[in-house]
Amino acid sequence: MAKSPEEEHPVKAFGWAARDPSGVLSPFKFSRRATGEKDVQFKVVYCGICHSDLHCVKNEWGFSMYPLLPGHEIVGIVTEVGSKVQKFKLGDKVGVGCMVGSCRSCDNCSKNLENYCPKMLLTYNSIYHDGTVTYGGYSDIMVADEHFVVRWPDNLPLDSGAPLLCAGITTYSPLKYFGLDKPGMHVGVVGLGGLGHVGVKFAKAFGVKVTVISTSPSKKKEAIEHLGADSFLVSRDPDQMQAAAGTLDGIIDTVSAPHPLLPLIGLLKTHGKIVLVGAPEKPLELPVMPLLMGRKIVAGSTIGGMKETQEMLDFAAKHNITADVEVIPVDYVNTAMERLVKADVRYRFVLDIANTMKAA
Ligand SMILES: [Zn+2]
Ligand SMILES: [Zn+2]
Repeated sequence: MAKSPEEEHPVKAFGWAARDPSGVLSPFKFSRRATGEKDVQFKVVYCGICHSDLHCVKNEWGFSMYPLLPGHEIVGIVTEVGSKVQKFKLGDKVGVGCMVGSCRSCDNCSKNLENYCPKMLLTYNSIYHDGTVTYGGYSDIMVADEHFVVRWPDNLPLDSGAPLLCAGITTYSPLKYFGLDKPGMHVGVVGLGGLGHVGVKFAKAFGVKVTVISTSPSKKKEAIEHLGADSFLVSRDPDQMQAAAGTLDGIIDTVSAPHPLLPLIGLLKTHGKIVLVGAPEKPLELPVMPLLMGRKIVAGSTIGGMKETQEMLDFAAKHNITADVEVIPVDYVNTAMERLVKADVRYRFVLDIANTMKAA
């Protein structure tokens, strides 16, 4: 018979987990595997709260396994390394993002695209190589194969940097891959939430002109004055959208709710690309004719490989890019989830694990 989460491994651990699709998180005793020869064990200091954590605790994508312990924007300090670990030593600052494993041999893996490996293992709610369920960063300690651990740049803050591990790489990678990182280009960012606000910062750091596209006119001041966007469009205002038709080289669409693509496609120049990085739970309607008329591309992208994730963090450190965060104590997590449903956060909650996670 399978052992309980508390008994299956030798290292005692503690976190907050959801027990059912109500999504309510509560204290949870479990265990972590002994540090293997290529593993890095670390004390978790901060963990960001991603919108996908919310989808998962409530089983909105339909594949949640309970107890479910979320968190994939995890930063901490190394407490133990395996005998064959090469990249890290005790006391190093490190991070773990959305994945903790892949096959390491397929075509994607060989090209540093572990994120597209068919056997990619998520940081939580996946079955690890040893047959046990993975648990995320809403917990006191973490262990991961060093390949899936990133070096934390010295001058990058741990708290406001944590969300880069998901929100950062999710926007950085498509800007690079789709060639939307060239100075002089004009890029749109749709949705000004956790993903969108760091997308704007990366795009500006690449030297491109940025237009934020949002349903709420109230975000204009914030987008332009605080985040440095060059212009702002209210997507529900047909006159504004018409006036901006054919002006964008590309769009990063971060919206994770169903929304119309037609007005966005209209903003693209010939050969323009719209890259979807949010994951609406229902299919979107795809108007084909406007794609044909201008050889436009609709694409998708998810996080990035480990090499690129490291590159993104180093770039962020160099350009002083962090997320705007509200650091909260662990026992505030359920309130934070309720506020996240209403998008009532600027722009990311980060759990102060080191100071507020108290083992029951
Ligand atoms: Zn995420
Ligand atoms: Zn693979």
